[in-house]
Amino acid sequence: MSQVPENIVWHSQTLSKGDRASQKRQNPSVLWFTGLSASGKSTISNAVERKLYDLGHHTYLLDGDNVRHGLNKDLGFSDSERVENIRRIGEMAKLFADAGLIVLSAFISPFRADRKMVRDLVEEGEFIEIYMATPLSVCEQRDPKGLYKKARKGDIKNFTGIDSIYEVPESPEITLNTAECDIEACADKVIAYLKQNHIIHD
Ligand code: ADP
Repeated sequence: MSQVPENIVWHSQTLSKGDRASQKRQNPSVLWFTGLSASGKSTISNAVERKLYDLGHHTYLLDGDNVRHGLNKDLGFSDSERVENIRRIGEMAKLFADAGLIVLSAFISPFRADRKMVRDLVEEGEFIEIYMATPLSVCEQRDPKGLYKKARKGDIKNFTGIDSIYEVPESPEITLNTAECDIEACADKVIAYLKQNHIIHD
C-alpha cells in the first residue's frame, strides 16, 4: 500500500468521534455483510437499516452495486481490483463510523484478507462480520439478476462461486442462512446481537 505523501499532516478536529456518537446515543459500528451474490446481503442489510431507523438510530448503508456506479466505477472484478474496491469501501466505512453512524455494508468481499484489512482499519470491536451462509445452490436458483446463468455460460468471467473463489469467514460475529430464516427473522437476529453487545440500547 502507498505511503502518506510528505507534507500531508493529520489535522485534529474540535469535535471527536465520541462527541458525534454520544449525540446520537449509539456506538458506531460497521455491520459487514459478506456472502455470495443473491445470498441476501442487500435484502437483509436494508431490513436491518429500516429497523435501526425505526428505533431512532443513525445509519448509512453502502451497497456494492451502488458504489460501483460512482466512487469505484473505474474498478473491474480482477483480484487486484476487488482488493482495491474493498480498501476504498473500508476507508469510507471508517469515515462514516467516525461521523458516529452505524454503517451497514453489503459487498460479496470474497477474500478473508480484505475483510481482515477492514476489521483492522476500524476500532477494536467495531467490525461486525455477518456471514450470509445461504448455499450456492439456493443463490443460483434465485438468480434475481440472471448473473449465475450468464456466468455458467461463460458470459461473465471471475464470478464468485462459479469461477472465482469465496473464502468462508472463520469466525464471523453473526451467521445468517436466508434459506432457513425469513427476512424478518434474519434482521431480528442482527438487532438482537447489537443490543446484547451494547451497540444500541433497549
Ligand atoms: P445479494 O445482495 O447478496 O446479492 P440480494 O439481497 O440482492 O442478495 O438478493 C437476494 C434475493 O433472495 C432477493 O431476490 C430476495 O427477495 C430473495 N430472498 C428470498 N428469501 C430471502 C430471505 N429469507 N432473505 C433474503 N433474501 C431472500
